[in-house]
Amino acid sequence: MEIAIIAHDRKKAELVQFLNKNKDILNRENIKLIATGTTGGQAEKAGFKVKKMLSGPMGGDAQIAARVAEGKTKMVLFFKDPNSSHAHEVDINMLIRVCDVHNVPLATNEATAQLLLLGLNN
Ligand code: PGA
Repeated sequence: MEIAIIAHDRKKAELVQFLNKNKDILNRENIKLIATGTTGGQAEKAGFKVKKMLSGPMGGDAQIAARVAEGKTKMVLFFKDPNSSHAHEVDINMLIRVCDVHNVPLATNEATAQLLLLGLNN
């Protein structure tokens, strides 16, 4: 199962902490992580195997949206920063819309991300 992870700059540390907390689930053989470029780099540094897309501002969110639309990415964990604006806001909104179009679970904060991962246990 392919899971996308994305974190805005001020949320990257929180995401890495979350990944470490959930490494037993995320390191399972059937889980494949993909990420926007910079987020992916940080996850790699923390020891996770991640397929990296472009950085978010360069189109990484759009690449992930395309994978959701194609049925490849089955879950999106997006640690969004609600307190800053982004040049690539349209791509972010597109990703959210595409998840809704295809009924793909999307978390935009840590609490929801945790519930989604716990849902994988059932
Ligand atoms: P990044 O992109 O992981 O390359 O920083 C995240 C984003 O801003 O969407």
